[in-house]
Order: sequence, then structure tokens, then C-alpha cells
Amino acid sequence: MRILLVGAGLSGAVIGRELAEAGHDCRIIDARPHIAGNCHTERDADTGVMMHVYGPHIFHTDDEGVWDYVNRFARFMPFQNRVKTTAQGRVYSLPVNLLTINQFFGTTLRPEEARAFINSKADTTITDPQSFEEQALRFVGPELYEAFFKGYTEKQWGCSPTELPASILKRLPVRFNYDDNYFFHRFQGMPQNGYTAMVAAILDHPRITVELGTEYSAEMAAEADHVFWSGPLDGYFDYRLGRLGYRTLDFERFSHDGDYQGCAVMNYGDRDVPYTRITEHKHFSPWESHQGSVCYREYSRAAEPGDTPYYPIRLVKEKSLLEQYVDLAHATPGVTFVGRLGTYRYLDMDVTIREALDTAKKFTNHAADMPAF
Ligand code: UDP
Repeated sequence: MRILLVGAGLSGAVIGRELAEAGHDCRIIDARPHIAGNCHTERDADTGVMMHVYGPHIFHTDDEGVWDYVNRFARFMPFQNRVKTTAQGRVYSLPVNLLTINQFFGTTLRPEEARAFINSKADTTITDPQSFEEQALRFVGPELYEAFFKGYTEKQWGCSPTELPASILKRLPVRFNYDDNYFFHRFQGMPQNGYTAMVAAILDHPRITVELGTEYSAEMAAEADHVFWSGPLDGYFDYRLGRLGYRTLDFERFSHDGDYQGCAVMNYGDRDVPYTRITEHKHFSPWESHQGSVCYREYSRAAEPGDTPYYPIRLVKEKSLLEQYVDLAHATPGVTFVGRLGTYRYLDMDVTIREALDTAKKFTNHAADMPAF
């Protein structure tokens, strides 16, 4: 079959590869001048540092199949994300762990003591936390919430944490030991030559053609037997019901001679610091050595038409609009909507790859009755 895949990010590349291996001809287009979507990496021209052009991407998964898959296409170097945060004039360890708690409260608590201490601060009247704020007050109490989560989240999402779903905070653990690894997954690492090289290897198949700087057109779809759409869900329908909300990021680049902050990611919890975090990219490749350093100050704002969409907002307003678009998607035969933008979900890379592998499998097994969404 002739397959058109719109978007050369992880979803498009993995589905394209799987279908190419199953004997289908895959045409992959992307409006941007590069592959790999928002995990695109490239070396900085001045310093040679591998840059995460659209912000930090750290590969972590518990899915052995996904880990094996990515290791087929890239050599993964050991990397653990050890994030720090600057809040109220001091630097702390994230995610909230025993060091954070003891430093913040000036205590020397052991694990069980810390658990009891934090429990005594938690608002136990909240039995079923719905919002981000309720989740925080229920599990870490007001002081840590104010210092580390409230201001950061207001900056990141542009709204009050009372309006955000609890699920966003559930991404972050609270640990009553000194483990400061941001992720709890068994498999973690960083592709040695960046994500773009990995995606290029996935796309390297004789049945795959890739056209960059190429916008989708209905004529292209007409030439294909099936379309996989990994662009914005509402974009496929020309935003006819209105726009789903996204946050976009602006990066303010600056260079530094030597080591600027001593870690890859420094968050800024205070509301009056306008950026959410500073990323120093060379620390994502600790096996390389570079004298020069390049950093990004990261600012979050509502995406306007034409901006790169990053985070789906999914407030109540978006949810009802999303349902209407999902109904439209279901009623669109011959098109499968995939990935973060195509399904309007906050997806990590490993989940994106898992879903892409499963989608491709479903397609090769049941191409005739492939569901539209
Ligand atoms: N968050 C926070 N303070 C921090 C880091 C994260 O309040 O120092 C909140 C924030 O709302 C963020 C969410 O936790 O959107 C998830 O954080 P994560 O680090 O997973 O975000 P990502 O790296 O995907 O932007």
C-alpha cells in the first residue's frame, strides 16, 4: 500500500519504519526543515555542543520493548536527569526528596520521620484531589507547594494550579530517601549522537522517502491508500471548531565560557523570575568535553497561530472541544491520528514510540478495518 505519514517526528518515523518493513511504501512529509519533531537535536556551530533545540528531552522508560527498539537505532549513553531548583534564594534538589525536605526545613529527618512530618503538613481533608493545587496540598503541604510548584506551574501553564488537572503533578514523585533521579524508570539514557541521528536511522529504509519543508495537501492524501496524521488534530480540520490550546516555549540563548550552572536543568520556582528554567545543554552529553557552553532560558506562553505547539493544555474548555474533534476524527476514514499533536496528549517519548509500534502492528494486521482514531 502507499502510505502518507504527515510529520517526521517519533510517531511518523516509527510507524513509517514498521510499515516499510512490512512491505508498504511510505512517504513522510514534514513542514519543518528537519526530522525528529520536537526532539530534534543539532550541534551548536560555535561550541560543538549537542543542543536540544526544542528543550530538554531525556529518554526514560520501563518498557523493555521500546528500550530495545531505540537501541537498535542509536547507542544510548548512561544519563540520569538530576534537576535542581532555585527557590526563595536557595538551591534545592528535585524531585522533592529527603535532601530537599531536610534542607528546606533545616531538619535531619530519617525516611519514616520525614514521611510523618510531611503527612502532618498535608491537608488530609482532601480525599480525592482533582486539581494540581489539591494534589500538592494533599501530598506535600503548603510550604513545599509554595516554594517549588505554585510559581513554576503558574509560569509554565499561564493559569492557576487550581484550574489544572492533578495528573500534571502526578508526573513528579516525592521521595523519602536521597534518590534524586528525576525518573523512576529502569531504562534511561541519551542517544550518543542526538535524537535526530536516531530518527534518521529509523527512517533509513529503501521503502521510505522523506520530504522536508513540505506542507500537507489533499492531493497528497488522494494519492495514498492511508494517511497517518501526527500534526495538530485541530489543524487537520482547519481549526473549523476553534483552536485547541497549547503552550509554546521561547528560548533565550546565551553562551558562557566554561560551566554556567553545573547541571543540565535548573528550575526557577519563584513567580517573579520570568523564566521557568535554564538548560545548559553540554551537561546532557557528560561523555563529551567542551570548553564553551550554551544555555537556554526557557519562557512559556500561550501558543498563537503559527507558533510551535508544545504542551496541550487540556483545561475543561479544551476537553469539550477535544471531544468534538475526536468525533470528527472518528468520522474520517482512511486517516489515523497519532502522537502528541494528533491525539492532543502530553506524551513522553517512550509512550509515543510504544503507541506508534502498536498502531503499526494493528495496521499491518487489520489494514482493511483500521479505525480512524
Ligand atoms: N513542576 C513544578 N515545579 C518544578 C518542576 C515541575 O511545579 O520545578 C510542575 C509543572 O507544573 C510541570 C509539571 O510539574 O508542568 C511536570 O513537570 P515535568 O518536569 O515533568 O515537565 P516537562 O519537563 O515535561 O516540562
